Amino acid sequence: MANVIAIDGPSGAGKSSVSKIVGSKLGYLHVDSGALYRIMTWQCLENGVDTSSPEAVAEFASKVEIECRPERGAIAYYVKGEAPGNRIRTPEINAHASPVATVREVRSRITAILRGLAAHGNLVVEGRDITTAVFPDTPARFYLTASPEARALRRQKEEVEKGIANQSAEAVKASLLARDRIDSTRKCAPLRKADGAVEIDSTFLTLDQVVEAVMSALPPEWLPAGA
Ligand code: C5P
Repeated sequence: MANVIAIDGPSGAGKSSVSKIVGSKLGYLHVDSGALYRIMTWQCLENGVDTSSPEAVAEFASKVEIECRPERGAIAYYVKGEAPGNRIRTPEINAHASPVATVREVRSRITAILRGLAAHGNLVVEGRDITTAVFPDTPARFYLTASPEARALRRQKEEVEKGIANQSAEAVKASLLARDRIDSTRKCAPLRKADGAVEIDSTFLTLDQVVEAVMSALPPEWLPAGA
């Protein structure tokens, strides 16, 4: 059985940056589960599926084929041989992803894909329900959070740097809070801190400090000799 480090938390808490660094320190594959929900959303929009209709989304979800391949320390995703790139990072996808992610059939499909990835080896998986629903039995479970202001500033900076959008910090904050609300109140696998998960508030911490906090809470036998 592969080792799985599970990291949940709201948007912009720093899950991706932390997961990538922890993964590269340990040689674990980084898995961005949010990208799978974004791909489902992107495919719904591309194919004219009404994302406000759970029935239409549920029916369509079974038809989307997502290929997962380990590449340069992470799991890369392809749809019909194409990498989605920044097409799944736009404000439009942000607005539709949380409603799509409330649909039970979408969640069960993606949960099965994520569990199957353990066949590729040890993983660092980030998302909203990894510690509570996808890999609830792993001994390495974290809940990463930060203030809404800090999260919005990080996301806005990232959007500008990557040339994805140029929204104000206020607009980004409103979008994050809208997603948080849907993610934490949905019926199926809502975002919440799992019992026994290690909570880290990154508002006033550097990235290195958060990485250190995660590394120091891992089972000692998972650390490389001498660390
Ligand atoms: O992490 P990211 O912001 O890319 O996730 C996009 C959306 O996918 C989230 O707002 C959430 O609705 C959904 N999601 C989820 N469960 C996960 C990961 C993401 O519901 N494990």
